[in-house]
Amino acid sequence: MPTRRVILLGATGSIGRQAVDVISRFPDRFEVVGAVARRDAAGLGALVERLGVGRAALVAPDPDADVPTGWGVGLEAACEIAALPADVVCVAITGAAALRPTLAALDAGTTVATATKEVLVMAGEVVRARARRSGSRILPIDSEHSALWQCLRGEDPASVTRLILTASGGAFRDRDPATLADATPEEALRHPTWNMGPKVTIDCATMMNKGLEVIEAHFLFEIDYPRIDVLIHPSSVVHSLVEFHDGATKAQIGAPDMRVPIALALADGERLPGVAAPADLAALSPLAFRPVDPLRFPALGVARRAGERGGVVPAILNAANEVCVSAFLRGACRFDQITDLVGEAVEAAPAVAGPSLDDVLDADAWARRRVTEALALPAGAAVSGPGGGAGAA
Ligand code: MG
Repeated sequence: MPTRRVILLGATGSIGRQAVDVISRFPDRFEVVGAVARRDAAGLGALVERLGVGRAALVAPDPDADVPTGWGVGLEAACEIAALPADVVCVAITGAAALRPTLAALDAGTTVATATKEVLVMAGEVVRARARRSGSRILPIDSEHSALWQCLRGEDPASVTRLILTASGGAFRDRDPATLADATPEEALRHPTWNMGPKVTIDCATMMNKGLEVIEAHFLFEIDYPRIDVLIHPSSVVHSLVEFHDGATKAQIGAPDMRVPIALALADGERLPGVAAPADLAALSPLAFRPVDPLRFPALGVARRAGERGGVVPAILNAANEVCVSAFLRGACRFDQITDLVGEAVEAAPAVAGPSLDDVLDADAWARRRVTEALALPAGAAVSGPGGGAGAA
């Protein structure tokens, strides 16, 4: 098998570090030709040295950071690295800041393995059009979508009746909803099964994560919203399921270990040996499933509505949510306000059919301004959008 040239965007974050772990275990299979981090110069430096990475960049280094000679700085430098000749670009930058580098990779005709659902949510139509134009492909790293991809392989798309995403239920799946107004970031960050970055962990606690994933699945697999369902599955052993018209349902099962979907996407669907230990089903039994209570988790309905309205509304959903989550983590927004403010932004969102990239960016900025004002955040305090700048690590 030839060595695959990999570009890592978000190389020092949770997914990036696990990708590095996979790559380090298969040195004959992968070569990292470029790596980008937001601001962790020391972490990126160690990785560049260890893996012999050719090109590196920091998107938003601290002003007093010692950036090594030859490294790029800023979003444009990240986009340049994303467009270098490669076999796969692994996108693991948190949130909307991943949009431009993802488009740069797709425009270069490179396969994109993405862990950043926000890009497909905010600009699914634009992203799909760019991929079609250059013939590039988008492979999922998100565990549920990797599971769907695995279940769909070798199947006739016309035989698929339903996609079923599983949700852990997050930190508050059994907490009295009446007490959620007082929930602290520390409590919301205690995810029952997965160990992930702060943005996605808060999204799991509100269930907005699953709402974003419904939209992500719509764009990845080109399936209408009424045929994408969600079930709560507390142990996160069944990563998702596909139902077929003969009455069969396929599930993908495994211990919660992101290295499996990362390796599968980096290797373009080939299964590499020994990536993770198989699930011990006897020890993990019984497997439980239950429907989502819409009163406990209103965010799922808000996201579904945004997806069904289409146009720029999913971009508004995503941007409003990013600002609220960032504010919640800093103590500037109550937990229950996250879904309320995002829902209000979705209802107020303008209808724009067939949005251009500029329409998406305008909608993103509109939603960020709206929520920043609603929360009375100091100007510039909110997490920035696809233009880069300050934001989550
Ligand atoms: Mg997921």
